[in-house]
Amino acid sequence: MVLSIKSRRDGVGLGRGHLLVAGAWRPSRDGGTWVHLHPATGEEVGEFAIADPADVDAAVRAARQAFDEGPWPRSRARERIRVLRRAADLIREHSDELLALQALDNSVPLSFSGAYVMSAECAADVFDHHAGWIDKLGGETLPPYQGGDHLVFTLREPIGVVAAVVPWNAPLLLAAQKLAPALASGCTVVLKPSEYATFAVLRLVQILDEAGVPPGVLNVVTGPGESTGEALITHPMVDKITFTGSRAVGRRILHAAADGITKVSLELGGKSPSIVFADADVYAAAAMTMGTVTVGLSGQVCVAHSRALVQREVYDEFVSIATGATALACYGDPFDAETTASPLINGRQLDRVLGYVAQGQAEGARLVCGGERVGGELAAGNFVTPALFADVASDMTIAREEIFGPVLGVTPFTDEQEAIRLANDTEYGLAAMVWTADVKRAMRLTRAVRAGTIGVNGYQVEPHAAFGGFGQSGLGREGGRGSAEAFTEVKTVLVPTTEELM
Ligand code: NAD
Repeated sequence: MVLSIKSRRDGVGLGRGHLLVAGAWRPSRDGGTWVHLHPATGEEVGEFAIADPADVDAAVRAARQAFDEGPWPRSRARERIRVLRRAADLIREHSDELLALQALDNSVPLSFSGAYVMSAECAADVFDHHAGWIDKLGGETLPPYQGGDHLVFTLREPIGVVAAVVPWNAPLLLAAQKLAPALASGCTVVLKPSEYATFAVLRLVQILDEAGVPPGVLNVVTGPGESTGEALITHPMVDKITFTGSRAVGRRILHAAADGITKVSLELGGKSPSIVFADADVYAAAAMTMGTVTVGLSGQVCVAHSRALVQREVYDEFVSIATGATALACYGDPFDAETTASPLINGRQLDRVLGYVAQGQAEGARLVCGGERVGGELAAGNFVTPALFADVASDMTIAREEIFGPVLGVTPFTDEQEAIRLANDTEYGLAAMVWTADVKRAMRLTRAVRAGTIGVNGYQVEPHAAFGGFGQSGLGREGGRGSAEAFTEVKTVLVPTTEELM
């Protein structure tokens, strides 16, 4: 029997995929739509509007007006806290529906949606977390530097109109990581979800509407990056662009922002190392490292630890355990409890990943297993078995480029200095794992490795902690106080309090 996802739409509110502009849901002006093909089957599962430049302009103008004239940026902390907390409650209430939409979008298995980062609970917690900052972020009072009776203090004000552009792989969490701090600070937003994961985000936005976000404060434009996204990031009325996605598009955004000196924050890709010393729990290290490119989104995660650096004494053992761990991948209908791994998101990504597998072999790495397209009843989907490459040199393409798929490369090292050199031999710097029983060594490594997040003997994403990248993995951090402040401007106020200083 050939797999079909269409039937899974029953009872799930895909809606009509309209744009949200100034509080009204409506189709695009020219009637253009994008048909979403499910990555597990190639079937059409729904369609949504493609916003053209005029639609994007209307959305940005609505956000501008809501910022310049509307109540939200001027609202009391108490009011914004109430709305964000209500949003968090509603997200939890609609958890099943949101996860079903996410699986219809990107085929992330429901079994994996139990993992905290993919869950609706996590997205809800992000709203609760940022609701908590609303009455705590303020300015400061400073002593006058030059003497005299002078009052010096700072105010924190919302930055303005925010363009938020998100990718397809964890649409709920990544949209929440932008919307919650932006709304908390009193900004207005135009959100563009990925064309490969639109429906879960549209439902999230409906929920925010229901929670009491006023009309015009949150607007949504859907469609491809090259047209809808470009119109948004180049719009002169945007004050800040917050982007999560690939390095290539991040670069394009920096160029676009240069003209208007638009503020930018970027969460980009990675080529994260998992550094395994001989004294580590090698089983746990190999299973978890392989797991980051095998189960769930099949390595289509920014924190895939796709470079295993393994001390020579345990190298063969690591390769053998990691090879066994590829059996954890079970493909199929994302709604089935047995399914543990997703297909690649689209045909372009499928071709890229198969291309990297071929290039790894051509450059001399040893393909131990995997890297093949899955056939049979899954032949219409973009499934590829987890590829494990051993004897990868750090100058090989598969060791340098973000593959964003089920491919792990293993490289041996001799001592700590070599491990650090290999770990930092990358243009990226998003995350790293260090596996060792020696606490002192673990602490030395956490200082020496240049990455935004370091896991010691394990790894998990904590949405309230700063997350972001060194090097070409991005600019700025999401999560925590820094990300709340990133949606504000600081204004200094100088007040002479005696006549002679005036
Ligand atoms: P992508 O860069 O192709 O697309 C991301 C978003 O940008 C989409 O909404 C897309 O439509 C839009 N876009 C594309 N071209 C655009 C343009 N010219 N102007 C404006 N918008 C444009 O990335 P993707 O394939 O959706 O996601 C995968 C990438 O995201 C990987 O590199 C991954 O590492 C990265 N990522 C990073 C993080 C992080 O937190 N650092 C998290 C998840 C994913």
